[in-house]
Amino acid sequence: MKFGGTSVATIERIKNVAQHVKREIEAGYDVAVVVSAMSGKTNELVGWCKEAAPLHDPREYDAVVASGEQVTTGLLAIALQAIGIKARSWQGWQVPFETDDAHGSARIQKIDGTRMLESFARDREVAVVAGFQGIHAPSGRLTTLGRGGSDTSAVALAAALQAERCDIYTDVDGVYTTDPRIVSKARRLDRVAFEEMLEMASLGAKVLQVRSVELAMVHNVRTFVRSSFDNPAQPMPGTLICAEEDIMEQPVVTGIAYSKDEAQITLREVADKPGVAAAVFEPLAAASIVVDMIVQNVSADGATTDITFTVPSADYARAMDVIEKRKAEIGYKLVQSAQEVAKISAIGVGMRSHAGVAAKAFKALAERGINIRAITTSEIKFSVLIDVAYTELAVRTLHSLYGLDAA
Ligand code: ASP
Ligand code: MG
Repeated sequence: MKFGGTSVATIERIKNVAQHVKREIEAGYDVAVVVSAMSGKTNELVGWCKEAAPLHDPREYDAVVASGEQVTTGLLAIALQAIGIKARSWQGWQVPFETDDAHGSARIQKIDGTRMLESFARDREVAVVAGFQGIHAPSGRLTTLGRGGSDTSAVALAAALQAERCDIYTDVDGVYTTDPRIVSKARRLDRVAFEEMLEMASLGAKVLQVRSVELAMVHNVRTFVRSSFDNPAQPMPGTLICAEEDIMEQPVVTGIAYSKDEAQITLREVADKPGVAAAVFEPLAAASIVVDMIVQNVSADGATTDITFTVPSADYARAMDVIEKRKAEIGYKLVQSAQEVAKISAIGVGMRSHAGVAAKAFKALAERGINIRAITTSEIKFSVLIDVAYTELAVRTLHSLYGLDAA
């Protein structure tokens, strides 16, 4: 079980979490429960580091920000003991969660669940585990897994313990066909395939950290997203994230995602010859800028062409800087850009076996006067880049077009 920040935000909420754990213990399960810091705590800790020094030692940043989870593990263990359940806290280094030394965004390399499994076998003691934390064994220093990392802690631990399930409790009752704040007819999905969830998570549906979904897919961990705000005595099932084969009736499109954090850059009249794309994208990669959509036109005159691509809004200024500095090498005439853009994506493993899925969307968007600036497709999704002002309209249009609206 994993409980996020809002689920452990107060002592009252922590007592409620204890009731959820109690239910599973009474159902006969051994339970490892991963907790986040109380909501807002990590932000506060990050803020303190910046205040102490804008440029700070990342190892000390980890020492500071890992502390939020230490508090909630102890509090939940106390709350469990108070209702007669054996429990103890485990910090990341105690389990241990061994990671690399990329402080602030470390990757888990190995989890040794032996001692935890022994404590289950010995006296069914609940393991209350700090999410987000790890240890770099060679240096013995604390690490953290990046913001939202306790999802990844939970899935990784479930895989290491060969758990029957990993239940991620949060403040929503599952994964929706789209953002319910924009589309009132959004529906909760009973099941989502790992690959679809991966696309949704990386496209801006902020339910789970992307890496947790990757891990769940690689280790085939049956993962539920469910609400901690349900009555602990009558929990709702939530959404199961599982292998594609475990989903009987697969709709063509499962969900619509959107992201407003994109910026578009277009290079006009680039020479149409080998090596030009490399000249554009290599320096961007060297600057660690992740390019998302790329569109290159077929040249009309055989001499020049246009290249359009998108980058995260946060990297827009840096990307423009790279492109302008390389003007002579790349050899373009003009650079144009747009920051007021949004990317709308439709996702579904059913697209693999259906023709014309995207074509239908292009027509529907055109009928509403929405201009498409760029398009990308993959086996299980397509994305269109449009003016940001049309985001809500486009999401709603595609949501009903593919029959996702709730009755
Ligand atoms: N407390 C950490 C954060 O806020 C980890 C997590 O909640 O997943 O990013
Ligand atoms: Mg989270």
